[in-house]
Amino acid sequence: VSEDDLLVVDSIDTYYGESHILFDLSLSVGRGDIVALVGRNGAGKTTTLRSIMGLTPPAAGTVTLGGTDITGFEPHETRKEGISWIPEGRRVFGGLTVEENLRLAAHSGADDQSERFEEIYQRFPRLDERRGQKAGTMSGGEQQMLAIARSLLGPDTDVLLLDEPSEGLAPQIVEDVADIIRELNEEGVTILLVEQNANMALELSDHAYVLENGNIVHESPASALLEDREAMESYLGVK
Ligand code: ATP
Repeated sequence: VSEDDLLVVDSIDTYYGESHILFDLSLSVGRGDIVALVGRNGAGKTTTLRSIMGLTPPAAGTVTLGGTDITGFEPHETRKEGISWIPEGRRVFGGLTVEENLRLAAHSGADDQSERFEEIYQRFPRLDERRGQKAGTMSGGEQQMLAIARSLLGPDTDVLLLDEPSEGLAPQIVEDVADIIRELNEEGVTILLVEQNANMALELSDHAYVLENGNIVHESPASALLEDREAMESYLGVK
């Protein structure tokens, strides 16, 4: 843990009922970094994000953001502190248009943020072209874009928690999503990226953690893990 760490998870244990899922788990995300959290199915990646967000508060350990202890905060309080979460599966409202999806997000906070729509549309021209299109008829990549755009409305986002943004997307579209993540990061958003697609995540990231059965089993610069073929195969099944 250094002064430059923005998000610090320190020795958390998380349970679903009686099931112990995360074991004494620690990780830190440097300000301005992209950090990958990778691992096989069921390793506990989503549970780690849920623990940070306050959806499944840890039974022990702490989560701090910029030095503020946010352990056990309700999800909406965590959001106010500056952490946004994009769940797996994107979950946009398929029967509503792009504009309606954004409007809903804009009104869910205390103040009306409609004026920020233009900023969002400038950043995501493909959404601009599709303002009137029902979200459910858009491609997976476009829906992911909408989910990201929506998460940026509301309180300022310092840290974005992204759960499997590449899931179910064609390789070309995965590249588009990777570009968006890179751009957001360049604009100053710190990112914790959970991915099954280890190659994609590690290519984007500064630092990497590997999770196995609720334990961190490897930590290194992302490039070092990417080049470590043995580790890639044994931890992630990537040949
Ligand atoms: P995936 O890549 O498949 O999404 P993951 O690494 O994100 O996996 P988690 O979703 O965090 O893994 O799940 C970790 C473990 O917790 C799994 O064994 C899972 O079955 C269990 N689990 C997840 N949600 C619940 C729940 N609501 N109740 C009980 N157990 C759960």
